Amino acid sequence: MPTLNVRDDSEKGDFIAEVRRKKALLKTGALQNAILTSANFSIIATDEKGVIQLFNPGAERMLGYAAAEVVNKINPSDIHDPQEVAARARALSLELATPITPGFDALAFKASRGIEDAYELTFIRKDGGRFPAIVSITALRDDYEDIIGYLLIGTDNSVRKQVETELHKAMAVAEKANLAKSDFLSSMSHELRTPLNAILGFAQLMESGSPLPTPSQQRSIGQILKAGWYLLDLINEVLDLALIESGTLSVSPESVSLAEVMHECETMIEAQALKRGIHVSFPEFDTAYLVKVDRTRLKQALINLLTNAIKYNCVAGTVVVTCIVDTPGRIRICVEDSGEGLSGEKLAQLFQPFNRLGQEMGGPEGTGIGLVTAKRLVELMDGKIGVESTVGKGSVFWIELNLTNERQHVIDTAESGTITPVQSQDGGQLRTVLYVEDNPANLMLVEDLVARHSDIHLLSATDGNKGIEIARASLPDMILMDINLPGISGIQALKILREDTATAHIPVVALSGNALPRDIKKGLEAGFFHYLTKPINVNEFMKTLDATLKFAKTVQGRPPPP
Ligand code: MN
Repeated sequence: MPTLNVRDDSEKGDFIAEVRRKKALLKTGALQNAILTSANFSIIATDEKGVIQLFNPGAERMLGYAAAEVVNKINPSDIHDPQEVAARARALSLELATPITPGFDALAFKASRGIEDAYELTFIRKDGGRFPAIVSITALRDDYEDIIGYLLIGTDNSVRKQVETELHKAMAVAEKANLAKSDFLSSMSHELRTPLNAILGFAQLMESGSPLPTPSQQRSIGQILKAGWYLLDLINEVLDLALIESGTLSVSPESVSLAEVMHECETMIEAQALKRGIHVSFPEFDTAYLVKVDRTRLKQALINLLTNAIKYNCVAGTVVVTCIVDTPGRIRICVEDSGEGLSGEKLAQLFQPFNRLGQEMGGPEGTGIGLVTAKRLVELMDGKIGVESTVGKGSVFWIELNLTNERQHVIDTAESGTITPVQSQDGGQLRTVLYVEDNPANLMLVEDLVARHSDIHLLSATDGNKGIEIARASLPDMILMDINLPGISGIQALKILREDTATAHIPVVALSGNALPRDIKKGLEAGFFHYLTKPINVNEFMKTLDATLKFAKTVQGRPPPP
């Protein structure tokens, strides 16, 4: 027989006492009384037909009736909003495929079938005041399981409703503010790009102009171009981060070959590494490693890590890129440098914006927001980013991504106007290009660029309506279209040209300072053959011009699309 120690004995004693207390409580009805007289719940009991038999103090307080005014006189549906009761009857009739009459039936039908039921409806007070209530309704049964009445327990839901409404309002305001911020960023981006377009465009023109600039002029032009492109990088970085922080940057993940992306990154950073004398090694891929990412955004994050590894390295240092699959379904890309390494304190500050880890006083240039952006982008794609570092030895930055089995997304090149450069011009045939642009400096720049190609004849218009007029009159081979134009926008002008059978076949290329991804997406969806952003990169611009003219030649003589 188990022996009980003293402590067990006393616990046992406590338990017995508690059971006794509970029994006493139920017997005297003290518990029922406390519940029934509670001022915080309205408790209404009815007979089996729905006539009110009990109306507790809580119900009196909430609804403003004295019990004597309602008991044996009305039924609970009389204190509900009649339209809501009717709507509930209709909804229940549909749900249960039985006709249910508006009135008490609509409230009690489910409970009468033994279905647990709680609903949210409006109570109407004696003085006509209204408030939202949550009501739970149960059927009361006798020992033979026959229904003898119904019990309705209601609570006032106004406070919660009010909080909900406030919350919705606050969310709508925040949403509106976010949209305003995003619009502001979009227009700021445009405003900053327009003057940069002139600076970079004319500098590129002078760099390759005839007569060629003298070596000293060449150096000056080089400085203008370097500063200009750097300024453009900064604008892009700041805009990206601002978009991420306002929650308006979206990524579109798809199945992408990591091997391909890494190869593209390798090409992109080659020159930079060479200039700084840094040796960069990439892994050999024996398989494509498909990852679920936004291709452009992954490249952006990787380029950021690679650029940092090159920038913050020692003289003649090395960067080693490796890919490891150690967790199933995940792949880790590591970028290891041979730089100074980072102390624990610096590591802690690393992924914070505008923190350049003591590089503020010179050293390599940058805003220090690249890593923050990379982190947010990787996280938006369900990945992870991190760093391990040893002072005096170097750092390893890594990105971990989800592998996928989905087939790689193949870009439909038929309509998107992918550029394939053409070297030779077609047998001296004169081609006409119409440029619709309101900014005189941009217009002059394109005129000067095109002037180098004797086989291209340039027409111009300074607003959309004039552009359409000239397009109809002279049917150019292609049209270059600014988007922000006085009067109708470039997108509206495109629409009109598309709807006119005479001009529908002419490829229209957008050339705009609206350079946010959503602007470009909107433009391509509107039907632009290609979307070029300002500032103009002369090489890209000429390639696009050549490719579009080549395309225009193939559609000539073809019947216009319906
Ligand atoms: Mn404009």
